[in-house]
Amino acid sequence: MKRTSNGVKIMNYKLLIKNITVFVGENFKRLDDVDILIENDSIKKIGKNLKAAQAKIFDGRDFFVTPGFINAHFHPGQQINRGLCLGLNQDEEMDFLHATEKIKDSEMSYWLSAVAILEGLKSGTTCFQSVGSEIELQARLYNQFKIRAICVLMPKDIVATDKKITVRARTWETEERLRRAEEMRQKYHNDLVRVHFGVTNVRYASDKLILGMQALAEKYDTYFHMHAAEGKLYVKKVLERTGDRPIEHLHKIGALNHRISLAHMTQLTTKEISYVAKSHSHVIHCPRSNSYLGVGVCPVYDLLKAGVNVALGTDAAINNNSNEVRSEASAAFHKISDQTGNPAAINYLDLFKMLTVSGAKAVGLDKQIGAIKKGKRADLVLWSKNDFPFIPGHNYLADLIFNDSCRAHTIFINGVKVLANYKFLTINEQEVKTAAKRLSKKYYQLVNQKISRHT
Ligand SMILES: [Zn+2]
Repeated sequence: MKRTSNGVKIMNYKLLIKNITVFVGENFKRLDDVDILIENDSIKKIGKNLKAAQAKIFDGRDFFVTPGFINAHFHPGQQINRGLCLGLNQDEEMDFLHATEKIKDSEMSYWLSAVAILEGLKSGTTCFQSVGSEIELQARLYNQFKIRAICVLMPKDIVATDKKITVRARTWETEERLRRAEEMRQKYHNDLVRVHFGVTNVRYASDKLILGMQALAEKYDTYFHMHAAEGKLYVKKVLERTGDRPIEHLHKIGALNHRISLAHMTQLTTKEISYVAKSHSHVIHCPRSNSYLGVGVCPVYDLLKAGVNVALGTDAAINNNSNEVRSEASAAFHKISDQTGNPAAINYLDLFKMLTVSGAKAVGLDKQIGAIKKGKRADLVLWSKNDFPFIPGHNYLADLIFNDSCRAHTIFINGVKVLANYKFLTINEQEVKTAAKRLSKKYYQLVNQKISRHT
């Protein structure tokens, strides 16, 4: 008896996908009418006319297969606030979010987070870097659904004394949070659902917390994640507190390195871009969230030119309305094309790389996921060539980036089929929807009774 790395008991599970169109390797070379052999959790072989005794057969003639997408910055816990903060700036939105935290209970967080995750999964995301303060709950959901994730606790230890108490974020004692993060790693980390380290941002996290979490990342040979340089006010506040701009400050305290990924990064100087590039830090671009909050534009073109690894994230439904990382790629393209006035400044393959290979690299999982290759984990998304977005289908990868309404037909994560014929196999979708709708109604009534949008 064997087990897949996510704990599912199997007896030498073999699946042979026959005659499919596949985009292989880090450069997504298209191969038609080939076979893929999956053994347990990994890709064993890719080639023509493969044979495997006792393998289940999947007829792939009507499909093309890509690596699953990686949403490298995702707050499922904010799903419940979707549509409630339109037109608010970053600080107003954060005030609302902190005020409503007292209303939201764990049942609401659980079922609404499930909606956000499932929405992302249906659009082809197979790995989520999932952040926030409810890591136990998130880890439970991903384990239950058999979905790959990296859960990151993002604490604050600096009190926002400039804010009214009703809208102040919760803060913790530094040592307590470091202990808690390590405890969570020991308790919840496994091969499928990983626990990495992080802090919220330089505005609300002390150097001691940042460096303490980074020491834990080093100790467990894993990665670290945080928000950074998001908006002019954020930069101003960091300047007031530290005397430095956020990335300058991280550079100065020795926090920039290959283990760190930084979300947003809309306020960067040329010098700061060079610090990021030289330290091999990763950037998580969240184009739609940045527009939603008006925090500026991440200089992706300059970062890529400087050799920085850039991946994509949806951020939170509260400031995006969408959990589909696939569509972040087209948003990234539109911004770069508008900024440079050059439609060839970035091409669809660069964008597809940001969704897959670069995402895997940013979370330290590039040896396992991000590309279809012998030996990599079988995190595969099968798309039906009969679906409207793929007709005429001259360029499937560009279709995936630029066409709305692309829906995954079948998904494997770690070799386990989690979606087939557009339906979840590991999850009762209707149960999730029913509970989420009931709790959202209750929550909305409470918000209207107790909170103003401009708190
Ligand atoms: Zn965020």
